[in-house]
Amino acid sequence: MAEQTTTIVIFGASGDLTTKKLAPALADLYAKGRLAPEVQIVGVARSEMNAQEFSASFYDGFGPAAHFPPAPETWQDFSRRIHCCYGDVLAPDGLDGLERTLAAVESPDKPANRLYYLALAPSLFAPAALAMGRAGYQQENGCWRRLVVEKPFGIDLNTAMELNRVIHSVFAEHQVYRIDHYLGKETVQNLLVFRFANAIFEPLWSRNYIDNIQITVAESVSIADRAAYYDNAGVLRDMFQSHLLQLLAVVAMEPPSTFEADTLRNEKVKVLESVRRIPSQDAAACVVQGQYDGYLDEPGVPPGSRTPTYAALRLDVDNWRWQGVPFYLRSGKALTNKRTEVLIQFRRPPHLIFPQGPSGDITSNTLSICLQPNEGVHLEFQAKAPDSTLDLRPVNLEFNYEDSFGGQEIPDAYERLLLDALNGDASLFIRSDEIEQSWSIIDPLIHGLSQPPTRPPEIYDPGTEGPYAADDFLARDGRAWLGKCIGG
Ligand code: NDP
Repeated sequence: MAEQTTTIVIFGASGDLTTKKLAPALADLYAKGRLAPEVQIVGVARSEMNAQEFSASFYDGFGPAAHFPPAPETWQDFSRRIHCCYGDVLAPDGLDGLERTLAAVESPDKPANRLYYLALAPSLFAPAALAMGRAGYQQENGCWRRLVVEKPFGIDLNTAMELNRVIHSVFAEHQVYRIDHYLGKETVQNLLVFRFANAIFEPLWSRNYIDNIQITVAESVSIADRAAYYDNAGVLRDMFQSHLLQLLAVVAMEPPSTFEADTLRNEKVKVLESVRRIPSQDAAACVVQGQYDGYLDEPGVPPGSRTPTYAALRLDVDNWRWQGVPFYLRSGKALTNKRTEVLIQFRRPPHLIFPQGPSGDITSNTLSICLQPNEGVHLEFQAKAPDSTLDLRPVNLEFNYEDSFGGQEIPDAYERLLLDALNGDASLFIRSDEIEQSWSIIDPLIHGLSQPPTRPPEIYDPGTEGPYAADDFLARDGRAWLGKCIGG
């Protein structure tokens, strides 16, 4: 095969995602020597931008691994690979400038692999794919061509299916890399390693030993200036359809036979298929909705908006492994702290031979998988308090990422995902059927909750754990939220 070169084309080069995430991730990958030697980076946007302005965010993005600031010769070598051009994915001849830039930076003698990254507003994903199709950018003649699509992928099942249809009219599924950056987090990958590289937990990982599973994605920030997006989305679209259901799938999936993209994703799809659908008419009874006090005063939020900024719900996975084990999912904005955690609460011992404490109960074992910010795994179990007759106390076995790996930097998820996309490893990207399954779980809930006379979301104070109704919701099942990971 002829020697190949690789070009990374970023649509949305002047945007927030490129500046804050993609440029630093690419700079770090370059500094670590993980980009192909001949790599070229081309940014596309409608704004007037010169290569110097565009490269500034790459310069600033050189992280600790590159010993900021980069050595002059390092920067010289890297910056000569950074280019930008005018492009408008909505205009008929909107990719002409890109075509000229590609002709200038790619060698005519070597086939050029291309990674196209859509760092664009979601409404532009389909037009961008079609524009690339008209220019023949998907054609793989002796090289590869891949498309990375950001989230959100659709706003409901129909729009997601339509977006899949449009994208598939240009790119084949094996060329499409749909991002949920949660999957690029080291700790989410560690969850896979924890489950499938250790023999001791897997026999316990089922209804036989697990009482319930709680998945929390909490944010301390408010919606700030994102009302235009958020008020139409709400927490169910923003968080549940993607991050929370992906975490559920990773926790609940069967062991795949290999760590290859399709075997892994087949297992995730099976879990999502097994999630019991909650019909629209039951949504109000099955979902707790909240809205933080002050949401209506945020700039751009329409008066009287009922958009939920918090939700908690119970899902059941109808298969042999999980029958009867509730998965409680919750997420919200303006909460006590920022944290993502998966808590596995095991069943209580079937018969207690020890006298019980004053509260008349002992806590059952809990495995806490803390995904951020204090990444680690903690197993809580009972121990005998010293110098007591038989006083039992919960204690922890702890694994802490930072301590165990000598404070080694945890790279940003985008670094891992960009590298995987360049290497053609789609394991941590979402397949079209996963997206559609996820929407088919969430759609009826959103629909049901929008129907009058559904109660408006309960108002909760910012800086709390959300609405009181979420506690009552679990109390109805005789349980409580556990919250064992410490947030940031
Ligand atoms: P921005 O609005 O900051 O950037 C959008 C980019 O698109 C700009 O560079 C804009 O440049 C370009 N653009 C707009 N219209 C066109 C057009 N017709 N043709 C070509 N380029 C165009 O958005 P973000 O960077 O915040 O988000 C991008 C995507 O990433 C979204 O889908 C978002 O949901 C997703 N995302 C963003 C995150 C973030 O941290 N920002 C996190 C996770 C996901 P110009 O106007 O100059 O053309």
